[in-house]
Amino acid sequence: MDKLNFLTAGMPQRTEPKNYDAAFKVLKEMSLDGMELEFVHGVRISEDSQEIVKNAVKEKNMLVTAHGSYYINLNAREEEKVDASVTRILDTALMADKLGGYSITYHAAFYLGNDKETVFERVKKQTERIIEVVEKEDLKVWIRPETTGKPVQWGDLDEIIRLSKEQVLPCVDFSHLHARSGGGENTYDAFCRSLEKIGNGLGQYALDNFHGHLAGIAYSQKGEKNHLNLEESDMNYKDLLKALKKFDAKGALICESPNIEEDCKLIKEFYMSL
Ligand SMILES: [Zn+2]
Repeated sequence: MDKLNFLTAGMPQRTEPKNYDAAFKVLKEMSLDGMELEFVHGVRISEDSQEIVKNAVKEKNMLVTAHGSYYINLNAREEEKVDASVTRILDTALMADKLGGYSITYHAAFYLGNDKETVFERVKKQTERIIEVVEKEDLKVWIRPETTGKPVQWGDLDEIIRLSKEQVLPCVDFSHLHARSGGGENTYDAFCRSLEKIGNGLGQYALDNFHGHLAGIAYSQKGEKNHLNLEESDMNYKDLLKALKKFDAKGALICESPNIEEDCKLIKEFYMSL
C-alpha cells in the first residue's frame, strides 16, 4: 500500500438512495477512500451491487474491505458451529476477493471458560483450514482476525500477532483494545507500543499492509458496551493518528463511529494535517 486510506464502516449515513452507487459518490465527494462492507449478518450483496463495488475499486480507485459475520466462534463446543464459522469466514473472503477487496476481518472466537492456550490452538487449527482454501483458490485478500472488545472474547493483540503468518495479519481495533483493558491503551506511548509490537513481531510488511478500526467507545470493566462518536468519547484518536503517522502505517483505517462519515472525515483531516 502506498498510503493510509480512510474508510467508512458501511455506507455513509447521508447516502440517498441507499445503494452502493450513491454511497461511493458520497465518499468521493467527501474525499474519503473507500468502505468496509458490513457482511455482519451474512454475505448479502446483489449481482448489481457487486458490479458497482467492483467498478468503484477498479475505476474510482476506492479501497474495499469486508467485515465478516458476528456469528463466528472458532472455539464453539459444537463441531457444526465451528464448521459454520469457517464457512462464514470463507464466504466473506471469497466475496471480498471477487469484488477486488483488500482484506477481511472478523471476531474469531470466545473463550467459553477455556484457558487461553487451548483456545489459541483451536483457533490456529481452524485458521489453517481457512488458509488452505484461501491458497487453493488463490485469493488475494488478507485474512484478519480482529482485536476484540471484551475480555470474554479471544483476540488480544498478542494472540492475534502470534496467530499471524503469511496471509493472516491483524486487524487492530484500537477502540476495542482500549475497551477490553477497561480504559487503558489510550496514550501516545501505548499506541506506539502496539505498533512496535506488530513491527517487531511480524515485520515492516505488517505496517505497510495495515488494517485498523477506530471509533469512540463506551465500556465497563466487562469491556466494550457500544460505539460513540469520537468527540463524545474519551478515545484519544489524535495521539493514535500521530502514532500511525510516526510508524508510517499504510493500508486501511476504518471509522466505525455512529456518525460514520463525519468521524471518518475528522480523522482523515487530522491525519493529513500532521
Ligand atoms: Zn469488528
